[in-house]
This record gives sequence, structure tokens and C-alpha cells, in this order.
Amino acid sequence: MSTATRDGRNWTPDYLVSIDPKKCIGCGRCFKVCGRDVMTLKGINDEGDLIDLDDDEDEEVEKKVMVMNDEGACIGCGACARVCPTNCQTHAPAAAEAA
Ligand code: SF4
Ligand code: SF4
Repeated sequence: MSTATRDGRNWTPDYLVSIDPKKCIGCGRCFKVCGRDVMTLKGINDEGDLIDLDDDEDEEVEKKVMVMNDEGACIGCGACARVCPTNCQTHAPAAAEAA
């Protein structure tokens, strides 16, 4: 699916489709630049389970990772990909995602 910029130039959104939890270092940069609340930072405990950082204060957080929270809200601006230091995100246009 392509759409248009303000003055009508063709623009193909490049949506965030996944974040590789093995490569993500939980730096939070992508979260800061996203205006759509697509992602949220989670903890991973010693058993490898995802845990909320807010309510599980007793649980040991081994590392933090960014996960997709509301993927349908993504507008495909690509800002998150530009700031990610580990290149752990995968983006795709809508047509490629459906294929
Ligand atoms: S592509 Fe844009 S809207 Fe989508 S998750 Fe990244 S920063 Fe947010
Ligand atoms: S910018 Fe990359 S490494 Fe940092 S939290 Fe986001 S996905 Fe993870």
C-alpha cells in the first residue's frame, strides 16, 4: 500500500514488523522517537520470560528488550530503524508483510 506526502509525492510506509530480542539491548532510542506508542520496554527474567517493568519489582530483570505493543498503530515512518544501534528491527511495506 502506498500513500502520499503532504504535497502528493508517492510515499510507501515501511512498517515495523518485528524486533529481534536477541539483538535488542533495550536502549530505548526507538521508543523515544516513535510518536505512535507502537513499542514498549519489557524485562526478561532469568527464565527468559517477558515481564512488565512496572509491577514486578521483586523479579530479577536479566535484561531489557523492546517489544511491539500496538503494531497496528505504526505509520511506517522508519524513525525507529534510523536510531537503532544494533539493527535488530525488521521493517516492511504493507504488501510485503501480507505476502
Ligand atoms: S516506523 Fe515510525 S510509527 Fe512505526 S514503530 Fe517505527 S517510529 Fe513508530
Ligand atoms: S533502538 Fe534497537 S536496540 Fe534500542 S531498544 Fe530499540 S530495538 Fe532495541
